[in-house]
Amino acid sequence: MKKILIAGVVVLVAIVIAVFALLPGNKENQFNQVVDHEAYVISDQARTLHSSLAIGDLHADTLLWHRDLLERGTRGHVDVPRLIEGGVVLQVFATVTKVPPALNYEENTADADQITGLLIMQRWPLRTWGSLFERARYQAQRLDEAARRSEGSLVFIRTRSDLEKVLEARKKGRAAVGGLMATEGSHALEGAIENVSKLYDEGFRMMSLHHFFDNELGASLHGTSKADLSDFGREAILEMNRLGIMIDVSHSSEAVVTEALEISSTPLVVSHTGVHGACDSPRNLPDDLMRRIAAGGGLIGIGYWDGAVCDTTPAGLARAIAYAVNLLGSEHVALGSDYDGATSVYFDTSELAALTQALLDEGLGDEDIRAVMGGNQIRFFRKYLPTRE
Ligand SMILES: [Zn+2]
Repeated sequence: MKKILIAGVVVLVAIVIAVFALLPGNKENQFNQVVDHEAYVISDQARTLHSSLAIGDLHADTLLWHRDLLERGTRGHVDVPRLIEGGVVLQVFATVTKVPPALNYEENTADADQITGLLIMQRWPLRTWGSLFERARYQAQRLDEAARRSEGSLVFIRTRSDLEKVLEARKKGRAAVGGLMATEGSHALEGAIENVSKLYDEGFRMMSLHHFFDNELGASLHGTSKADLSDFGREAILEMNRLGIMIDVSHSSEAVVTEALEISSTPLVVSHTGVHGACDSPRNLPDDLMRRIAAGGGLIGIGYWDGAVCDTTPAGLARAIAYAVNLLGSEHVALGSDYDGATSVYFDTSELAALTQALLDEGLGDEDIRAVMGGNQIRFFRKYLPTRE
């Protein structure tokens, strides 16, 4: 009897260990996919242009997943080796902290959350289980820890000089990429204004106001109220401006974006989106708001997933980018992949030359391609990142 009991316990422990070891990978494979495709054919012209680019991507959710950023992964879309292979010098990492289960672009409440189960399964520390703030903080600490282990291949970007360091290393032919922290939805502030500076101290240099539901700052584009900024939202924007944290209005309601345009002293970023003219999706802000953001000096990052651009092939993405360039001017259009954001894409970040090829095929000139792929992102961060930690 005793032997059976011991055997039972051993089997149970083995099952629990197997579940914790295998489930995170299975879960990610289910969410972050690369569509099967033949190897992309890249012309000599595209290859030469691509290798001269310094690429910047305004949005990836990689830190949510159970992978070592420094190792080339067999799942998902982004890690340091693949970023370097793709020619990326600047990757913004956003921190997803709460996601309603029945996700949609029209109307979500904040009642339930599917991140809690995921992070318990991934053995995140106890402090993150009940705190959105701690979930954001932990993801920044993961980037910091990876940067420290990387021997210079991953630089945590907190200041302008950090960015210059990466650009300089790249010029000298050294493999290096910069990572910049952003929130995805500032419910991570948990309604406390002092948490803006606490997250700044953890290295956050961009904050998106919303994700899929209304929060303490005001209304999401996909929430229930469609209202404007709350008093806390206004106060938070001014505090972000004061500290040198850039403001991302992806997922914010039209009323919030309109008001943020008026009160923010720095231009707005829409880190990951599409444009209506290329993809008439409820995920995308109206063209006139996009034009106002661009006219204010802002950046619009075009995403690689179907809800933003409808056609996610390299050619489809190139069409969406060309449309945005015509609408907004090439100096305001950027890349905002939404890699590892529960997205299915046609190429991971190591295969970005396929996009350079598609932009050439679409008829964009070299200088426009250089601007959209990263020149704009680098100019923007050079201007608005703080000079000191
Ligand atoms: Zn998003």
